[in-house]
Amino acid sequence: MSESSDHLIDDRMIISLRGNKNSVDPKMPYGWLVEKERTSSGKIEETGIIFLTNRECPFHCLMCDLWKNTTDDTIAIGDIPRQIEWALEKMTSVKHLKLYNSGSFFDKRAIPEEDYQEIALLLKGFETVIVESHPRLINEKCLKFRDMLEPELQISMGLETVHPEILRKLNKQMSVEDFAKAASFLKSQGIPSRAFILLRPPWLNESEGILWAESSIDFAFNAGVECCTVIPVRAGNGAMDFLMNNGEFTPPDIHSLEMVLEYGIGLKKGRVFADTWDLRLFSKCEKCLDKRTSRLIEMNLTQQIVPEVECECTKHQAPCTKQL
Ligand code: SF4
Ligand SMILES: [Zn+2]
Repeated sequence: MSESSDHLIDDRMIISLRGNKNSVDPKMPYGWLVEKERTSSGKIEETGIIFLTNRECPFHCLMCDLWKNTTDDTIAIGDIPRQIEWALEKMTSVKHLKLYNSGSFFDKRAIPEEDYQEIALLLKGFETVIVESHPRLINEKCLKFRDMLEPELQISMGLETVHPEILRKLNKQMSVEDFAKAASFLKSQGIPSRAFILLRPPWLNESEGILWAESSIDFAFNAGVECCTVIPVRAGNGAMDFLMNNGEFTPPDIHSLEMVLEYGIGLKKGRVFADTWDLRLFSKCEKCLDKRTSRLIEMNLTQQIVPEVECECTKHQAPCTKQL
């Protein structure tokens, strides 16, 4: 772990380094897409994602840029169902749906509880609905929503890293015990959960970034999650750019993402995915970027280890992954 400077990382520092929010409409999701995902039953199926517009998350994590597409105030009752209805008209023949709201679905200032019933009605006929939540907001309210739903509810939570000092400095306001408690509660209630895991948060060198991501996958599966998604850390939210300019953060290499994905899949404890959005940010070699991207996508879909990409850029790299 590299030396970190002694600036205090807190809400005030993180917010002060932000740029402007994008202009969003509370009557419309700020995005939607359909992508293929391997389901827990092993089939590769189309999954819709609706990026709901709502009030900003009350947590201010160091690496988060989701505030960019949020409102300052709680939106009106009925707005979220209308956003879902609008997006569902665009996605026919989708059986699985992610409702991602740039925060926690169970934050009542983001998604009013009065909307749960209408949301549940709109989701009739789906097989799976996945929402996201901060682990500290996992409680009986999740069961209330689950009991209204016809599809199976799954919940994604950010574990981020099990490095205790770095987790604290990420300002997530959560301990690994909080995560384990939430995962265990969900498991006891029959609700599958998935963990978001960061690859190379600030203050770690490349090999430490790999090892801590792998340890975080181990921890998440031991805590009872059914699936892990590894997210290479990027700049772009103000605070991360500040740390990058200060030499405290360097984005990970795409090759490290491949190694961590191989490790996770090799555990055979559940599905492990790599986030493949904008991988250009993590590659210094134009020659193999497309091949590595295709390899990651194929491993995501098959959950098998695909032969490595041969390229001169990795010929002299020492292996630094954990031994299974
Ligand atoms: S809890 Fe999630 S949405 Fe909220 S600030 Fe942290 S990373 Fe962003
Ligand atoms: Zn290369």
